[in-house]
Amino acid sequence: MTEPQRADIASLGPMDLASCVSALGQPSYRAKQLLSWLYGRVVPSFEDMTDLPAGFRSALAAEWTLQLPEAVDVQRSADGTRKYLWRLADGATVESVGIPAEDRLTVCFSTQAGCAMGCTFCATGRGGFARNLHPGEMVWQVALVGRDFGERVSNAVAMGQGEPFNNYDATLAGLRLMNNPAGQGVGARHLTVSTCGVIPGIERFAREPEQFTLAVSLHSAVQATRDRIMPRVRRWPLTRLRKVLIDYTDFTGRRPTLEYAVIEGTNDTPAEVAALAAFARGWMSHVNLIPVNPVTGTGASRPSHRRVLEVAAALRSAGVETSIRSERGADIDAACGQLTQKHRPSDA
Ligand code: SAH
Ligand code: SF4
Repeated sequence: MTEPQRADIASLGPMDLASCVSALGQPSYRAKQLLSWLYGRVVPSFEDMTDLPAGFRSALAAEWTLQLPEAVDVQRSADGTRKYLWRLADGATVESVGIPAEDRLTVCFSTQAGCAMGCTFCATGRGGFARNLHPGEMVWQVALVGRDFGERVSNAVAMGQGEPFNNYDATLAGLRLMNNPAGQGVGARHLTVSTCGVIPGIERFAREPEQFTLAVSLHSAVQATRDRIMPRVRRWPLTRLRKVLIDYTDFTGRRPTLEYAVIEGTNDTPAEVAALAAFARGWMSHVNLIPVNPVTGTGASRPSHRRVLEVAAALRSAGVETSIRSERGADIDAACGQLTQKHRPSDA
Protein backbone atom coordinates (compact mmCIF):
# COMPACT_ATOMS: atom_id res chain seq x y z
CA MET A 1 0.00 0.00 0.00
CA THR A 2 1.36 3.42 -0.89
CA GLU A 3 1.53 6.06 1.81
CA PRO A 4 -1.27 8.62 1.54
CA GLN A 5 -0.16 12.03 0.24
CA ARG A 6 0.37 14.48 3.05
CA ALA A 7 -0.33 18.18 2.58
CA ASP A 8 1.73 21.10 3.87
CA ILE A 9 0.48 22.40 7.25
CA ALA A 10 1.65 25.88 6.13
CA SER A 11 -1.24 25.93 3.64
CA LEU A 12 -3.74 26.35 6.52
CA GLY A 13 -4.96 29.69 7.84
CA PRO A 14 -6.24 30.13 11.42
CA MET A 15 -9.77 28.90 10.58
CA ASP A 16 -8.48 25.82 8.76
CA LEU A 17 -6.18 25.00 11.68
CA ALA A 18 -9.22 25.04 13.95
CA SER A 19 -11.14 22.69 11.62
CA CYS A 20 -8.14 20.40 11.33
CA VAL A 21 -7.96 20.14 15.11
CA SER A 22 -11.64 19.33 15.47
CA ALA A 23 -11.50 16.83 12.57
CA LEU A 24 -8.86 14.97 14.57
CA GLY A 25 -11.30 14.82 17.50
CA GLN A 26 -9.42 17.32 19.66
CA PRO A 27 -10.97 20.02 21.87
CA SER A 28 -10.94 23.51 20.38
CA TYR A 29 -8.30 24.97 22.75
CA ARG A 30 -5.75 22.72 21.07
CA ALA A 31 -6.01 24.90 17.94
CA LYS A 32 -4.48 27.78 19.85
CA GLN A 33 -1.70 25.53 21.14
CA LEU A 34 -0.97 24.26 17.64
CA LEU A 35 -0.97 27.79 16.21
CA SER A 36 1.39 28.91 18.94
CA TRP A 37 3.87 26.07 18.27
CA LEU A 38 3.76 26.70 14.53
CA TYR A 39 3.84 30.51 14.39
CA GLY A 40 4.66 31.80 17.87
CA ARG A 41 7.44 29.56 19.09
CA VAL A 42 8.11 28.10 15.61
CA VAL A 43 9.34 24.56 16.18
CA PRO A 44 10.68 22.37 13.36
CA SER A 45 8.48 19.29 13.94
CA PHE A 46 5.20 18.09 15.47
CA GLU A 47 7.32 16.00 17.83
CA ASP A 48 8.57 19.21 19.47
CA MET A 49 5.06 20.34 20.44
CA THR A 50 5.49 18.95 23.91
CA ASP A 51 2.20 19.99 25.49
CA LEU A 52 0.15 18.22 22.82
CA PRO A 53 -0.80 14.59 23.53
CA ALA A 54 1.49 12.10 21.78
CA GLY A 55 -1.46 10.58 19.87
CA PHE A 56 -2.46 13.97 18.50
CA ARG A 57 1.13 14.75 17.47
CA SER A 58 1.44 11.53 15.54
CA ALA A 59 -2.00 12.03 13.94
CA LEU A 60 -0.83 15.47 12.78
CA ALA A 61 2.41 14.04 11.42
CA ALA A 62 0.48 11.32 9.55
CA GLU A 63 -1.64 13.91 7.80
CA TRP A 64 0.59 16.95 7.35
CA THR A 65 4.14 17.84 6.50
CA LEU A 66 5.94 20.56 8.47
CA GLN A 67 9.10 22.01 7.00
CA LEU A 68 10.38 25.39 8.04
CA PRO A 69 12.04 27.64 5.46
CA GLU A 70 15.80 27.25 5.48
CA ALA A 71 17.99 30.37 5.40
CA VAL A 72 20.42 29.71 2.56
CA ASP A 73 21.92 33.18 2.62
CA VAL A 74 21.87 36.17 4.97
CA GLN A 75 23.42 39.48 3.92
CA ARG A 76 24.04 42.24 6.39
CA SER A 77 24.02 45.91 5.46
CA ALA A 78 26.22 48.50 7.15
CA ASP A 79 23.01 50.17 8.40
CA GLY A 80 21.80 47.05 10.26
CA THR A 81 19.35 45.86 7.58
CA ARG A 82 19.53 42.13 6.83
CA LYS A 83 18.38 40.35 3.70
CA TYR A 84 17.45 36.67 3.84
CA LEU A 85 17.18 34.14 1.07
CA TRP A 86 14.92 31.26 2.10
CA ARG A 87 14.54 27.86 0.53
CA LEU A 88 10.98 26.59 1.01
CA ALA A 89 9.81 23.00 1.39
CA ASP A 90 9.57 22.37 -2.38
CA GLY A 91 12.84 24.14 -3.19
CA ALA A 92 11.25 27.45 -4.26
CA THR A 93 13.20 30.46 -3.02
CA VAL A 94 12.03 33.83 -1.71
CA GLU A 95 13.59 36.79 0.03
CA SER A 96 12.70 38.85 3.09
CA VAL A 97 14.29 41.89 4.66
CA GLY A 98 14.62 42.82 8.34
CA ILE A 99 14.85 46.56 8.98
CA PRO A 100 15.69 47.55 12.56
CA ALA A 101 15.08 51.00 13.98
CA GLU A 102 15.42 52.32 17.49
CA ASP A 103 12.10 51.07 18.78
CA ARG A 104 10.93 48.94 15.86
CA LEU A 105 11.73 45.90 13.82
CA THR A 106 10.03 45.86 10.44
CA VAL A 107 10.01 42.74 8.30
CA CYS A 108 9.38 43.00 4.59
CA PHE A 109 8.05 39.60 3.46
CA SER A 110 7.22 37.96 0.14
CA THR A 111 3.74 36.74 -0.81
CA GLN A 112 4.76 34.93 -4.00
CA ALA A 113 7.94 33.42 -5.37
CA GLY A 114 8.51 35.87 -8.21
CA CYS A 115 5.75 38.05 -9.66
CA ALA A 116 3.67 37.88 -12.83
CA MET A 117 3.06 41.63 -13.15
CA GLY A 118 6.20 42.46 -15.09
CA CYS A 119 6.71 46.07 -13.95
CA THR A 120 9.66 47.27 -15.96
CA PHE A 121 11.63 48.93 -13.14
CA CYS A 122 11.29 46.02 -10.69
CA ALA A 123 13.83 43.21 -10.30
CA THR A 124 11.15 40.78 -9.09
CA GLY A 125 8.92 41.53 -12.05
CA ARG A 126 11.75 40.90 -14.47
CA GLY A 127 12.45 37.49 -12.97
CA GLY A 128 8.96 36.11 -13.72
CA PHE A 129 6.54 34.12 -11.57
CA ALA A 130 7.23 30.81 -9.82
CA ARG A 131 4.35 30.14 -7.38
CA ASN A 132 2.03 31.50 -4.71
CA LEU A 133 3.17 31.23 -1.11
CA HIS A 134 1.17 29.55 1.63
CA PRO A 135 0.01 31.62 4.62
CA GLY A 136 2.42 29.79 6.93
CA GLU A 137 5.34 30.50 4.60
CA MET A 138 4.62 34.23 4.98
CA VAL A 139 4.43 34.08 8.80
CA TRP A 140 7.59 32.01 9.03
CA GLN A 141 9.56 34.65 7.12
CA VAL A 142 8.42 37.22 9.69
CA ALA A 143 8.96 34.97 12.72
CA LEU A 144 12.37 33.71 11.66
CA VAL A 145 13.67 37.20 10.91
CA GLY A 146 12.47 38.28 14.39
CA ARG A 147 14.27 35.29 15.89
CA ASP A 148 17.48 36.14 14.01
CA PHE A 149 17.39 39.68 15.42
CA GLY A 150 16.37 38.35 18.85
CA GLU A 151 13.55 40.88 18.87
CA ARG A 152 9.79 41.08 18.70
CA VAL A 153 8.61 42.05 15.23
CA SER A 154 6.67 45.32 15.47
CA ASN A 155 5.71 45.78 11.81
CA ALA A 156 5.39 43.55 8.78
CA VAL A 157 4.92 44.71 5.21
CA ALA A 158 3.98 42.64 2.16
CA MET A 159 6.51 44.47 0.00
CA GLY A 160 8.87 41.65 -0.84
CA GLN A 161 8.43 39.52 -3.92
CA GLY A 162 5.00 39.10 -5.41
CA GLU A 163 1.68 40.85 -5.85
CA PRO A 164 -0.27 40.09 -2.63
CA PHE A 165 -3.69 40.56 -4.23
CA ASN A 166 -2.85 37.93 -6.86
CA ASN A 167 -2.67 35.59 -3.85
CA TYR A 168 -5.42 37.23 -1.83
CA ASP A 169 -6.75 34.47 0.43
CA ALA A 170 -3.34 33.18 1.46
CA THR A 171 -2.10 36.73 2.14
CA LEU A 172 -5.09 37.51 4.36
CA ALA A 173 -4.69 34.21 6.20
CA GLY A 174 -0.99 34.99 6.62
CA LEU A 175 -1.77 38.45 8.05
CA ARG A 176 -4.24 36.89 10.49
CA LEU A 177 -1.64 34.40 11.70
CA MET A 178 0.84 37.27 12.16
CA ASN A 179 -1.80 39.30 14.00
CA ASN A 180 -2.90 36.39 16.21
CA PRO A 181 -1.61 36.77 19.79
CA ALA A 182 -0.59 33.10 19.73
CA GLY A 183 1.27 33.72 16.45
CA GLN A 184 3.44 36.85 16.14
CA GLY A 185 1.00 39.26 17.81
CA VAL A 186 1.75 42.11 15.39
CA GLY A 187 -0.94 44.81 15.62
CA ALA A 188 -3.26 44.95 12.59
CA ARG A 189 -2.40 48.60 11.87
CA HIS A 190 1.24 47.56 11.75
CA LEU A 191 0.55 45.00 9.05
CA THR A 192 0.71 46.58 5.59
CA VAL A 193 -0.15 45.20 2.19
CA SER A 194 1.27 46.86 -0.91
CA THR A 195 -0.52 46.28 -4.22
CA CYS A 196 0.28 47.45 -7.72
CA GLY A 197 -3.41 48.36 -8.03
CA VAL A 198 -5.42 45.14 -8.31
CA ILE A 199 -8.83 46.78 -7.85
CA PRO A 200 -10.91 43.73 -6.84
CA GLY A 201 -8.34 43.09 -4.11
CA ILE A 202 -8.56 46.68 -2.81
CA GLU A 203 -12.37 46.41 -2.72
CA ARG A 204 -12.23 43.20 -0.70
CA PHE A 205 -9.48 44.49 1.57
CA ALA A 206 -11.60 47.52 2.52
CA ARG A 207 -14.24 45.18 3.90
CA GLU A 208 -12.01 42.97 6.02
CA PRO A 209 -12.78 43.40 9.72
CA GLU A 210 -9.18 44.08 10.79
CA GLN A 211 -7.54 47.51 10.51
CA PHE A 212 -4.75 46.39 8.18
CA THR A 213 -2.90 49.13 6.31
CA LEU A 214 -2.93 49.60 2.53
CA ALA A 215 -0.21 50.90 0.22
CA VAL A 216 -0.65 51.25 -3.53
CA SER A 217 2.20 51.39 -6.02
CA LEU A 218 1.20 54.24 -8.27
CA HIS A 219 4.46 55.28 -9.97
CA SER A 220 2.65 57.41 -12.53
CA ALA A 221 -0.69 59.18 -12.62
CA VAL A 222 -0.49 59.50 -16.41
CA GLN A 223 -2.26 56.51 -17.94
CA ALA A 224 0.09 56.12 -20.93
CA THR A 225 3.18 56.18 -18.72
CA ARG A 226 1.71 53.78 -16.20
CA ASP A 227 0.68 51.39 -19.01
CA ARG A 228 4.25 51.41 -20.22
CA ILE A 229 6.03 50.85 -16.91
CA MET A 230 3.34 48.67 -15.27
CA PRO A 231 1.98 46.82 -18.32
CA ARG A 232 -0.15 44.22 -16.53
CA VAL A 233 -2.23 46.64 -14.45
CA ARG A 234 -3.64 48.30 -17.56
CA ARG A 235 -6.97 46.61 -17.06
CA TRP A 236 -7.48 48.65 -13.87
CA PRO A 237 -7.25 52.24 -15.12
CA LEU A 238 -6.26 55.21 -12.97
CA THR A 239 -9.71 56.83 -12.97
CA ARG A 240 -11.20 53.69 -11.45
CA LEU A 241 -8.27 53.24 -9.10
CA ARG A 242 -8.73 56.74 -7.70
CA LYS A 243 -12.44 56.20 -7.18
CA VAL A 244 -11.92 52.84 -5.47
CA LEU A 245 -9.29 54.38 -3.18
CA ILE A 246 -11.61 57.23 -2.22
CA ASP A 247 -14.30 54.63 -1.43
CA TYR A 248 -11.70 52.74 0.62
CA THR A 249 -10.96 55.80 2.75
CA ASP A 250 -14.66 56.63 3.14
CA PHE A 251 -15.40 53.09 4.24
CA THR A 252 -12.42 52.44 6.51
CA GLY A 253 -11.42 55.92 7.68
CA ARG A 254 -7.83 54.90 6.98
CA ARG A 255 -5.29 56.69 4.82
CA PRO A 256 -3.59 54.64 2.09
CA THR A 257 -0.05 55.38 1.00
CA LEU A 258 0.65 55.98 -2.67
CA GLU A 259 4.11 54.63 -3.42
CA TYR A 260 5.90 56.59 -6.12
CA ALA A 261 9.34 55.47 -7.27
CA VAL A 262 10.78 58.58 -8.87
CA ILE A 263 12.38 57.61 -12.19
CA GLU A 264 14.42 60.33 -13.83
CA GLY A 265 12.92 61.58 -17.08
CA THR A 266 9.97 59.17 -16.83
CA ASN A 267 7.68 60.27 -14.01
CA ASP A 268 9.39 63.38 -12.60
CA THR A 269 8.52 65.85 -15.36
CA PRO A 270 6.28 68.84 -14.55
CA ALA A 271 3.34 67.19 -16.37
CA GLU A 272 3.79 63.97 -14.40
CA VAL A 273 4.06 65.80 -11.09
CA ALA A 274 0.93 67.83 -11.91
CA ALA A 275 -0.95 64.60 -12.74
CA LEU A 276 0.23 63.05 -9.48
CA ALA A 277 -0.94 66.08 -7.51
CA ALA A 278 -4.33 65.95 -9.23
CA PHE A 279 -4.63 62.22 -8.46
CA ALA A 280 -3.69 62.56 -4.80
CA ARG A 281 -5.46 65.82 -3.98
CA GLY A 282 -8.85 66.14 -2.33
CA TRP A 283 -8.98 62.87 -0.41
CA MET A 284 -7.13 61.20 2.43
CA SER A 285 -3.99 59.98 0.68
CA HIS A 286 -0.32 60.16 1.44
CA VAL A 287 2.40 60.11 -1.21
CA ASN A 288 5.65 58.34 -0.41
CA LEU A 289 8.44 59.21 -2.83
CA ILE A 290 11.17 56.62 -3.33
CA PRO A 291 14.18 57.52 -5.49
CA VAL A 292 14.09 54.51 -7.85
CA ASN A 293 16.59 51.82 -7.04
CA PRO A 294 18.47 51.07 -10.22
CA VAL A 295 18.00 47.49 -11.37
CA THR A 296 20.37 46.20 -14.03
CA GLY A 297 18.86 46.17 -17.48
CA THR A 298 15.80 48.29 -16.68
CA GLY A 299 17.15 51.60 -17.89
CA ALA A 300 15.36 53.29 -14.97
CA SER A 301 17.71 55.94 -13.65
CA ARG A 302 17.75 57.45 -10.26
CA PRO A 303 17.08 61.17 -9.94
CA SER A 304 19.28 63.43 -7.84
CA HIS A 305 18.26 63.99 -4.24
CA ARG A 306 17.57 67.60 -5.16
CA ARG A 307 15.08 66.52 -7.83
CA VAL A 308 13.22 64.34 -5.31
CA LEU A 309 13.07 67.29 -2.90
CA GLU A 310 11.65 69.46 -5.71
CA VAL A 311 8.95 66.90 -6.50
CA ALA A 312 8.08 66.71 -2.80
CA ALA A 313 7.90 70.50 -2.55
CA ALA A 314 5.66 70.75 -5.62
CA LEU A 315 3.29 68.14 -4.18
CA ARG A 316 3.17 69.79 -0.77
CA SER A 317 2.42 73.16 -2.25
CA ALA A 318 -0.45 71.52 -4.13
CA GLY A 319 -1.80 70.37 -0.76
CA VAL A 320 -0.68 66.73 -0.97
CA GLU A 321 0.73 65.06 2.15
CA THR A 322 4.14 63.80 1.02
CA SER A 323 7.11 61.98 2.51
CA ILE A 324 10.41 60.74 1.14
CA ARG A 325 11.30 57.16 1.95
CA SER A 326 14.48 56.80 3.95
CA GLU A 327 16.54 54.14 2.31
CA ARG A 328 17.88 51.10 3.99
CA GLY A 329 19.94 48.19 2.82
CA ALA A 330 20.79 49.52 -0.65
CA ASP A 331 24.36 48.17 -0.33
CA ILE A 332 23.04 44.59 -0.15
CA ASP A 333 20.33 45.05 -2.82
CA ALA A 334 17.69 44.81 -0.10
CA ALA A 335 15.92 48.01 -1.07
CA CYS A 336 12.52 48.13 -2.75
CA GLY A 337 12.32 46.33 -6.03
CA GLN A 338 15.73 44.77 -5.73
CA LEU A 339 14.51 41.39 -4.52
CA THR A 340 15.01 38.94 -7.30
CA GLN A 341 14.92 35.29 -8.21
CA LYS A 342 18.29 35.68 -9.89
CA HIS A 343 21.95 35.98 -8.89
CA ARG A 344 21.70 34.02 -5.69
CA PRO A 345 24.63 31.99 -4.41
CA SER A 346 22.87 28.67 -5.11
CA ASP A 347 22.71 29.57 -8.82
CA ALA A 348 26.44 29.76 -9.03
N1 SAH B 1 3.73 43.86 -5.81
C1 SAH B 1 3.47 44.80 -4.78
C2 SAH B 1 4.35 44.64 -3.57
C3 SAH B 1 5.80 44.31 -3.78
S1 SAH B 1 6.81 45.54 -4.55
C4 SAH B 1 3.54 46.19 -5.31
O1 SAH B 1 3.98 46.38 -6.43
O2 SAH B 1 3.09 47.09 -4.61
C5 SAH B 1 7.24 46.60 -3.18
C6 SAH B 1 7.40 48.07 -3.56
O3 SAH B 1 8.66 48.29 -4.24
C7 SAH B 1 6.34 48.56 -4.52
O4 SAH B 1 5.90 49.84 -4.15
C8 SAH B 1 7.09 48.59 -5.82
O5 SAH B 1 6.44 49.35 -6.77
C9 SAH B 1 8.42 49.11 -5.37
N2 SAH B 1 9.51 48.95 -6.33
C10 SAH B 1 9.67 47.99 -7.25
N3 SAH B 1 10.82 48.18 -7.94
C11 SAH B 1 11.39 49.29 -7.43
C12 SAH B 1 12.61 49.98 -7.70
N4 SAH B 1 13.45 49.56 -8.62
N5 SAH B 1 12.88 51.08 -6.96
C13 SAH B 1 12.04 51.51 -6.00
N6 SAH B 1 10.89 50.88 -5.69
C14 SAH B 1 10.57 49.80 -6.39
FE1 SF4 C 1 5.30 42.65 -9.06
FE2 SF4 C 1 5.17 44.75 -7.41
FE3 SF4 C 1 7.41 44.24 -8.81
FE4 SF4 C 1 5.26 45.12 -10.08
S1 SF4 C 1 6.43 46.26 -8.53
S2 SF4 C 1 6.56 43.40 -10.75
S3 SF4 C 1 3.62 44.13 -8.94
S4 SF4 C 1 6.53 42.95 -7.23
